[in-house]
Amino acid sequence: MRVWREHLDPPDSPPTERTLDPEDWGSLRRLGHQMVDDMMTYLEQVDARPVWQKTPDSTKELAQRPLPRTGKPAEAIYRDFVDHILPYTKGNIHPSFFSWVQGTGTALGALADFLAAGMNPNVAIGDHAAMYIDAQVIRWCKSMFDFPDEAGGILVSGGSVANITALTVARNAADQRVREHGVRALVGPLVFYASTETHSCQQKAAEVLGLGKRGLRLVPVDKDYRMDVRALLDMISEDRQAGNIPFCIVGNAGTVNTGAIDPLDDLLEIARKEKLWFHVDGAFGALAYLTPEYRPLLRAISQADSLAFDLHKWMYIPYEVGVTLVRDKTLHRAAFELQPQYLINHERGLAAGPDPITNYGLELSRGFKALKVWMSFQEHGLDLYTQLISQNIDQARYLAERIKKEPRLELIADVPLNIVCFRFNPGAVSETKLNEINKNILMDLHTSGVAAPSYTMLQGQYAIRVCIVNHRTQKLHLDTMVDKILELSQNY
Ligand SMILES: *Cc1c(COP(=O)(O)O)cnc(C)c1O
Repeated sequence: MRVWREHLDPPDSPPTERTLDPEDWGSLRRLGHQMVDDMMTYLEQVDARPVWQKTPDSTKELAQRPLPRTGKPAEAIYRDFVDHILPYTKGNIHPSFFSWVQGTGTALGALADFLAAGMNPNVAIGDHAAMYIDAQVIRWCKSMFDFPDEAGGILVSGGSVANITALTVARNAADQRVREHGVRALVGPLVFYASTETHSCQQKAAEVLGLGKRGLRLVPVDKDYRMDVRALLDMISEDRQAGNIPFCIVGNAGTVNTGAIDPLDDLLEIARKEKLWFHVDGAFGALAYLTPEYRPLLRAISQADSLAFDLHKWMYIPYEVGVTLVRDKTLHRAAFELQPQYLINHERGLAAGPDPITNYGLELSRGFKALKVWMSFQEHGLDLYTQLISQNIDQARYLAERIKKEPRLELIADVPLNIVCFRFNPGAVSETKLNEINKNILMDLHTSGVAAPSYTMLQGQYAIRVCIVNHRTQKLHLDTMVDKILELSQNY
């Protein structure tokens, strides 16, 4: 390579053709080493910093700078990153971060993303290593949930897209004419069922699939936020009588509000009897299937027609990576298969190789997100992941016990998994006032930088919501949070 360049560019005439490669590899290499050093220190010392701090004006000003016409040294850009971006992060890598359902990532996972970006393969088609590693990761994911080896699957950006991908297959399986003629070709309006506690991505799926918000039937839940099976049966039969076409039941393995697990065995049985597709949204909760304690409760997952889950939540892989598994690979492929002349596999050469991944999902160009999964799974082994998931569940139970012991705190939902919903309630305060006070306590807690739970509303009650998908959390972090909440509550 070098010889070729020297031949074309005699040293006395500077090159006229430009490239984005560094002029001085040595200085970029030094900067790269510095970045690795800085980031390892940053991760090592994560617990010493506040979990969150307010984004300062200087950062917002930086974010207003116009698009530059000319370049500047990488060192100066990195300095801006260190000064104005890195310190004002979301906090989800911190051991006291418990908001929404957000994973922590790992150090090797971050390095793997660097390696993947350096290789920068487009993992859509062709005969190259990343295609095989991507397929291997999918195979590993199938084995985690006892899906058959011949099932279909794809790595996607996250749970939302994983659910939409699965529901696309389910919709098309209901009537294969959809691809040719669209939803207007259907003999009647397709409808599918999920509980009122179901994640909002199911509604997005209903809308983008052309079924409309009303295509998603929200089934009531019982007092533990699990789908009411009797209500489901009634709704299916009412829909049939009204000329609607039920095609799918979505079961929740872990709802986002409280971690509720729908009666999945019942839903599976109903789906089989009613000849409906059984899909499980197990974005985070499906991973509890790995633990001996939860496997019996979640065993219907292994029988589902499709499963959506995230690796960037409860498998602690850096963003982004989610997974769709589809039991019947033929149906999976039939929903997305499309190979124009320029994407046909050849017998040999670069264009040979496995079935293009674009035949199994919406995307064509895809990055090498499989590498961080492949490296992480090998670094720790499945047993340690299983142990960490159990540890997080155990920590949630520990927190619930602590809250029960505190006279001024009130647990406001059961703790079936890794989510704890509670509030400050000293008694003799109206519900409206309690909601206001608890919201203020939460905002004060975030501002203090001590811990970052999130919030939800449960039957009109504002809940402080702790979700633990965090391999760095220890029980002491939960105790520190409770202590701080009690301290802050004295202001109200
Ligand atoms: C997080 C979540 C989703 C959406 O997944 P993303 O990775 O955020 O797109 C869907 N369902 C449930 C139950 C979730 O917790």
